[in-house]
Amino acid sequence: MDFNDTPQEADFRAEVRRWLEANATERRSREDKFGAGLNEAEYLAAARAWQARKAAAGYAAIAAPKAMGGLGGTPAMQVVYGQEEAKFLVPDRVFEISLGTAIPTVAMWGTPEQKEKYLAPAFRGDHIWCALLSEPSAGSDLGNLRTRATRDGDEWVISGQKVWTSGAHFAQFGILLARSDWDSPKSKGLTMFIVDMKTPGIDVRPIHQASDEYHFNEVFLNDVRIPDSQRLGPEGQGWKVMLSTLMQERFALGNNFSGDLYAQLIGLAQASQWNGAPAVENATVRAGIADAYIRQFGVELIVRRGMSAISKGENPGPEMAAVKLVGARAFQTGGALAIELGGAEGLIAAQDLGAEWRLPQLLWISAPGARIAGGTDEIQKNTIAEQVLGLPAEARTDRDMPFRELVH
Ligand SMILES: Cc1cc2nc3c(=O)[nH]c(=O)nc-3n(C[C@H](O)[C@H](O)[C@H](O)COP(=O)(O)OP(=O)(O)OC[C@H]3O[C@@H](n4cnc5c(N)ncnc54)[C@H](O)[C@@H]3O)c2cc1C
Repeated sequence: MDFNDTPQEADFRAEVRRWLEANATERRSREDKFGAGLNEAEYLAAARAWQARKAAAGYAAIAAPKAMGGLGGTPAMQVVYGQEEAKFLVPDRVFEISLGTAIPTVAMWGTPEQKEKYLAPAFRGDHIWCALLSEPSAGSDLGNLRTRATRDGDEWVISGQKVWTSGAHFAQFGILLARSDWDSPKSKGLTMFIVDMKTPGIDVRPIHQASDEYHFNEVFLNDVRIPDSQRLGPEGQGWKVMLSTLMQERFALGNNFSGDLYAQLIGLAQASQWNGAPAVENATVRAGIADAYIRQFGVELIVRRGMSAISKGENPGPEMAAVKLVGARAFQTGGALAIELGGAEGLIAAQDLGAEWRLPQLLWISAPGARIAGGTDEIQKNTIAEQVLGLPAEARTDRDMPFRELVH
């Protein structure tokens, strides 16, 4: 395994770095996050402008073929760009699902007409996409989903409910998984669609979160009519389409967990007093910081292993599940340590304590969600047990039964 850039990757890294230096502000520390003080509409406008500038420079879809509006580069170049961009303050959060999950699925499964119509506007940031997969009764096991897709001539009529749909309140389009056949086994009767979020019958209701953000939504679908030309992939093959979607999602999420929280903990521990001495001299605090460092370094090594695979034209393996499992937990325990460092004051909101507290507090509040999104801890453990360690697979008694029999 070689973690170093090839000469071509090193050249591309230098080129990208020059462009970012000319077009964005370098991040000074982890607490620098683009968008402090912006409301959602302002953040979205800034995000779209940034994405358009990236697209004009050719960096919006580096690994996509030129015929699809991409740069025609390699997946490794895409990773190199991502690593360099992470060092700058850019408003990229709203595109995580759009460009990390939905659009790669359209690129993989779409008809030539669908690719022609949807890829370029998404790369430019004109359109933002969401992923309408989870439902009240289907999350870890999407094979349980009950949103109904009924064929009616050249159209499909969709009815049901989705939940936890990130960004549905500002997305123009979504990929939507629905059950088109109730007599096949749970994973066989599903079909994936492209849906215009303005279609009559779609009711998006934002969910207010503990962090005071509105990140995700409930989406109700009442007799939503979708032309068959908006079907993504073959009828009944939605499970296969979805698996390729989730592979994208897990790697995209995994990439978020290679930060440097421990460095920030050191800064906070140096600035805080415990029992009349700097907290950084306390053995428990030092052990907590060491723990955060070890976890993050382990995560970093697995991410590099994934990147090394990409660099060789291979797919990252199932061990990437450990990135999300360990990374999201490290954020939670690290965030909790940061709050403890503040003593009684640690409970005060970051806007009163100071900017350096913003990120640890946000991590602490949002880490439980990160441990669920894109596959829960338990699901990651199952992946590691079955696919990395080769342990016996979980018993799945419902796999071959007609879905209709499972719900009645
Ligand atoms: C921040 C955030 C953003 C999200 N964004 C989106 C989005 O944009 N689009 C979308 O479709 N969904 C989204 N989700 C939903 C997410 O994918 C689901 O919440 C997740 O897959 C878990 O499903 P669930 O909530 O139904 O929990 P369940 O699947 O009901 O799980 C409940 C509990 O049972 C455990 N469990 C389930 N199955 C097993 C098993 N086989 N073995 C052991 N334990 C098991 C789980 O680990 C969990 O602890 C988002 C979630 C979050 C938190």
